Amino acid sequence: MFENLSERLGGVFDRLTKQGALSEDDVKTALREVRVALLEADVSLPVARDFTKAVQKKATGAAVTKSVTPGQQVVKIVHDELVQVLAGDDPNPGALKIDTIPAPILMVGLQGSGKTTTTAKLAKRLTEKNGKRVLMASLDTNRPAAMEQLAILGNQIGVDTLPIVKGESAVQIAKRAKQQATLAGYDVYLLDTAGRLSIDEELMTQVEQVRDVANPRETLLVVDGLTGQDAVHTAENFDQRIGISGVVLTRMDGDGRGGAALSMRAVTGKPIKFVGLGEKVDALEEFHPSRVAGRILGMGDIVSLVEKAQETLEAEQAERMMKRFQKGQFNMNDLKNQLEQMMKMGGMEGVMGMMPGMGKYKKQVDAAGLDDKVLKRQIALIQSMTKKERANPQLLQASRKKRIAAGAGMEVSELNKLLKMHRQMADMMKKMGKMGKKGMLKNLGG
Ligand code: GDP
Repeated sequence: MFENLSERLGGVFDRLTKQGALSEDDVKTALREVRVALLEADVSLPVARDFTKAVQKKATGAAVTKSVTPGQQVVKIVHDELVQVLAGDDPNPGALKIDTIPAPILMVGLQGSGKTTTTAKLAKRLTEKNGKRVLMASLDTNRPAAMEQLAILGNQIGVDTLPIVKGESAVQIAKRAKQQATLAGYDVYLLDTAGRLSIDEELMTQVEQVRDVANPRETLLVVDGLTGQDAVHTAENFDQRIGISGVVLTRMDGDGRGGAALSMRAVTGKPIKFVGLGEKVDALEEFHPSRVAGRILGMGDIVSLVEKAQETLEAEQAERMMKRFQKGQFNMNDLKNQLEQMMKMGGMEGVMGMMPGMGKYKKQVDAAGLDDKVLKRQIALIQSMTKKERANPQLLQASRKKRIAAGAGMEVSELNKLLKMHRQMADMMKKMGKMGKKGMLKNLGG
């Protein structure tokens, strides 16, 4: 589904990874090409721009990793950024909230987007993969053919549909579906709402009313992936009016340019949960951002190579640091490393949990108030110190303190707190150093 984009990016990175050394200009040129490729794939301009900016920034600041080329490292950064743009902070966007019994799922979208087909595909999936008892109901009172279509699909996949009662309104059908699902013990019921050719007031009002009756656990917007940025606009509109919990992109089997998939999350903040990959009732796939990123980039080998090299580098760094601690060395650079490490590992608690025998120091750390915001401020303070000061914090007398605090836009009192924490931690590190190879080193370095 991303053939063209994949080919274009492949060309850019093939050239890049073959070069031994990269200048900043090389990276810039490559990223310009990446941006053009994204725009040609119909990714929205702000998303494409933010994307290349983020990559540029990370590529400039990246630690040099042994045994991989800079080009390979850039590929990994692009890969990670693709995952980020596709997934946000949610590694598993395809998971559905179907924790109530029965759990209502509202299917919304424009006519022709593939809504009815997708409703059946999803019902089949929930039945077969999740072992749920599923009921489907069509609310398309304007188009009897659409109701028939859902009934036929239901028959085909062996999923029950709510019997059609002529003359009922969409809200009445929704109420009946809820009642039936509750009484007959269905786990999930899917409401296939009416579509229009374009968004109109009547459609939105009707969907709102149905939403208020059903109180859905998931409201899934079905949009045609071939329509590119229009799909993203449709999602924005539906989200503003109805509030959607996720998106299903259909026709991703076609030769669309894939831009909708890449812009959707960044523009609407809503995850793509599934993609439709054909007309058949099993042509529905859960959306896996990392797999999709892999498919777009087509450079899985390089990505895992860089990952391994990074792991090795981190292990080496940890070992080097432990050696310093054992000698009782713990300066501001060490503290900065530690603080950065903590941010990566989800705060101090995550770190403490990994170290045996650390429980007794927990109070000290809590007293220092180490949450993420504080960590960022502390790092900023250290960054405002000179090299000499970092290596040798004893140098910090009043005038230096003033300069450092001002440089970081903070009060001297905050710097004093940091210095106190540094002393406490240096003390702690010394004690841990005495515990020696028996405890810490094995646990961290191994
Ligand atoms: P609705 O009006 O939104 O309910 O749309 P339908 O479910 O009736 O689908 C419209 C057409 O799109 C039908 O011919 C479907 O078979 C087709 N369709 C739906 N999903 C996909 C998909 O993921 N890929 C392809 N190629 N066709 C699809």
